[in-house]
Amino acid sequence: MTQAPHRLAVVVATPAHSAVGGPLTYASEPALAPGTLVRVPLGRREVLGVVWGEADPAGEGQFEEKPVTAALAGIPPLAPAWRQLVAFAASYYQRSIGEVALAALPPQLRELSPEQWTRRLRRERASATAAPHESAPSLTAEQEAALDGLRGGPGPFLLFGATGSGKTEVYLRATAEVLEADPQAQVLVMVPEINLTPQLQARFTQRFGAVAVVSMHSGLTPPQRLKAWLAAHTGGARIVLGTRMAVFASMPHLRLVVVDEEHDPSYKQQEGARYSARDLAIYRGHVEGARVLLASATPSLESWHASEKGRYQRLAMPSRIGEGRMPAVRLVDLNQQPKGTVLAPQLLAAIEQRVQRGEQTLLFLNRRGYAPVLACTNCDWKSECPHCSAYRVFHKIDRTLRCHHCGFTERVPRACPSCGNLDIAPLGRGTERLEEHIGELLARARRPDGGPPRVARIDADTTRRKGALDEQLAQVHSGEVDVLVGTQMVTKGHDFRRITLVAALNADSALFSSDFRAPERLFALLLQATGRAGRDAAHAQASEMWIQTWHPAHPLFAALKRHDYPKFAAQQLEEREAAGMPPFSFQALVRAEARTQEVAQDFLQAISDASQSLQDAAAVTVYPPVPMAVQRVANVERAQMVVESPSRKALQRFLWEWQPVMQARRPKGLIRWAVDVDPLAI
Ligand code: ADP
Ligand code: ZN
Ligand code: ZN
Repeated sequence: MTQAPHRLAVVVATPAHSAVGGPLTYASEPALAPGTLVRVPLGRREVLGVVWGEADPAGEGQFEEKPVTAALAGIPPLAPAWRQLVAFAASYYQRSIGEVALAALPPQLRELSPEQWTRRLRRERASATAAPHESAPSLTAEQEAALDGLRGGPGPFLLFGATGSGKTEVYLRATAEVLEADPQAQVLVMVPEINLTPQLQARFTQRFGAVAVVSMHSGLTPPQRLKAWLAAHTGGARIVLGTRMAVFASMPHLRLVVVDEEHDPSYKQQEGARYSARDLAIYRGHVEGARVLLASATPSLESWHASEKGRYQRLAMPSRIGEGRMPAVRLVDLNQQPKGTVLAPQLLAAIEQRVQRGEQTLLFLNRRGYAPVLACTNCDWKSECPHCSAYRVFHKIDRTLRCHHCGFTERVPRACPSCGNLDIAPLGRGTERLEEHIGELLARARRPDGGPPRVARIDADTTRRKGALDEQLAQVHSGEVDVLVGTQMVTKGHDFRRITLVAALNADSALFSSDFRAPERLFALLLQATGRAGRDAAHAQASEMWIQTWHPAHPLFAALKRHDYPKFAAQQLEEREAAGMPPFSFQALVRAEARTQEVAQDFLQAISDASQSLQDAAAVTVYPPVPMAVQRVANVERAQMVVESPSRKALQRFLWEWQPVMQARRPKGLIRWAVDVDPLAI
């Protein structure tokens, strides 16, 4: 008599990406270790799955189980710690384990046959890259102290280091120590944006020479992604650099995780499982016994608060490297300027001065395109998007109106579509128009070599082509640009050496936003922008940050003038505590989308009513449903509802108990809904 095959619990990404739906049961002979990658039948398809464990014996004999099609031989099983991370992320962010697990694996794993596998693995093992070592500079006293702190305690650590204080050198040294101490050890370094990975990869490869360094981000081709994943998974890559997705990299010997610019909102995934890679890094470090180092000049208030309470160990590096000082902050009161002023005369003079001295200026305007709105001068026509509750942006370069929400694009009409008037004009200003304008204003200025100033722009429009951003940044670094106009893309992380003047032209809108995190984000943005100037000691004395504002008396600017993040944070935390806002409470958002606002809101109201009978209802506040700030996108109406509790545990239990209720109440006409735990934008 033959033995019955083993019954395995396998996680697969089921078509219904929802919180419900645990592992499915399959039969296998022989038994497969948990973490083994397998192919299994699902409906009519064959899909990739991960063995999660033995199937629950209670279900035995109820169904005839389908057999596992094949195990991906040659690939070691995913480690228990990795599975624990995935299970935690799924549970915390209210999704299925299968969805989170499969999204964390490179897509090509699904496509290769077992034979292709074996060949591929053999090839990877054969190839190794050797490069020369760069020698390390001697450390500053502050860097020494930070590294000492890092050696001394279990963490997690918050490195509060000024822009230009040499945080990267601390990551490099901490990495070196970890790699030397253990011949298998692996290090994960995360950055918020893809465009920061090339320079980081260069620094790490220069420093570590033959040690394998791989990058992981969404800009990789599927084969590149698979290659990097395999290198990390098999231990060949000792250092993994990446964006938020890298937090799920399979690294069986992980010993150190660095989260650079930990405050950056890009660490939060905005679809599917809406995870925070920063928060998962803390969890992962805890599970794997790896050190976790969060770093920023402007930490998130959550992390800062945790360091105030002693849950995170704070390491401080307040000074810039060398003689570098933080730039002086100057405010231009727009109330004192003639109406319609784009650049105050004194700011323009300061820019001209930089041009004459051969120094660089960065003009920061967080709005791309030529003008945010095109309007008729005769009637009240404006360039609204027919599909969204938003205006289409005028792009002069190809004379189009483009919706930045749904992508709907049309040629600019010759005349007003409503009254036929030929005079339709741009309202407001984006980077494209600013670039044109500054070029005209500086027409008479001269560089030290007598040539006219060279103005360049870097934003999402100029960098669409692969490699374009690197080329443009290289031009700035090599001094071929005198005035750089850019969006926040250029304010983060870059180590510009010749910029001595940064100006923020339109920062005010965030001051009065309904989003309680807006001031925190604005302060971080402006301080990071300030941090792009005066990074080279030779010019630091004369470096300045200019801010044009209608509200110069706002306390945010007072703190910014003194580069005083702790003061600003204390102010904000006091307000948050008084209002019972995060980090003093925990939030989730339920979002609903439907063809009409009514259907979306009715659904939210119905599940809100039904939630009153849930076990933890008394510990949780469910606020009334409201339309989202941009209420309609691509003809879909969007509404949301805030759920809040002083207890993270109570909120978690409440959400889990609530999910089946939401499933059951799903009305006709509802397109989708989603739960966002610890949302960043409200
Ligand atoms: P941060 O990330 O804190 O803004 P960086 O890591 O970019 O700062 O460092 C700023 C500059 O200082 C870089 O050009 C870096 O090479 C240089 N630097 C860092 N540490 C040292 C050191 N110990 N000695 C000399 N230069 C250093
Ligand atoms: Zn008109
Ligand atoms: Zn649109």
